[in-house]
Amino acid sequence: MSGSGHAGLRTIRTEHNMNDSSAYSRTRWPVAVKKMKLTEKIESKLGEEGIQELAAHLWARDCQTCGGSLGVEPPALYVIDMHTYAFAELNHEECRAPDWNDSGLLTGKSSSDAHLSHEALSVVLPFSRNGAMDLRPALLVNPGLESVMIQLDDQDRWQVKIGKHFEHAGLRPVGQIPMDSPVKGVTAHLTHFEIAVTLQGPPFSTYSAPIGGPSGPQIRDAHADKQGVLLMVSHLFDFTTPTPDHISSVFASGKLLSGWVGFAKNDDE
Ligand SMILES: [Zn+2]
Repeated sequence: MSGSGHAGLRTIRTEHNMNDSSAYSRTRWPVAVKKMKLTEKIESKLGEEGIQELAAHLWARDCQTCGGSLGVEPPALYVIDMHTYAFAELNHEECRAPDWNDSGLLTGKSSSDAHLSHEALSVVLPFSRNGAMDLRPALLVNPGLESVMIQLDDQDRWQVKIGKHFEHAGLRPVGQIPMDSPVKGVTAHLTHFEIAVTLQGPPFSTYSAPIGGPSGPQIRDAHADKQGVLLMVSHLFDFTTPTPDHISSVFASGKLLSGWVGFAKNDDE
């Protein structure tokens, strides 16, 4: 990433306590999707590869129709095909049966995200810059656990895409981030207990994570030093057990968008 190189990404060190779950308060854990209820049409549209792609990016927490917990039963996959792109979401089978809907008609509800869950984790990442360790505070965000946008690539394979509003806000693929040049469309707010970022355009989403536990002082120091936070967004992030290996594997996948976010003015720190 712009002069700081990737070397640091491969050597994220455990002393940053990213796997110390006591540092992060979470109420309900998402469950990785191992099995989804599908139809023949879904299977023929997605193919085995497309199904694997979705299973890796979807997390079975809340039903997108009723908002209730999806529980342990395999959720039903519902795909709304808008022809150039599609939305794939998880529901209770009894709330919305699995289907590939390319009728152009939506019944029951629109593709609103009223029941969409998101998660965020505050960490410090070691980058290397000019041979020296450069500690960067980062906010890792999974912006949608139970629903993702998919798009056909040039080989007609459905690939998960991160919502366009993140790109509009200035986030870019890792490797294209000017590290100290804040993106225009996001601001960060820091309190003693929490780091939050807010999109300045629709849908004006805010993502926040507590700062606490053994790594809290180090995270606060890094924020004070850099006056900003590295925002990293991916549907692959799983914060159930956020080990350095998992986080590195998400970076390596390339399926994330990132940008440097400056603190909003009038913040104390
Ligand atoms: Zn339901």
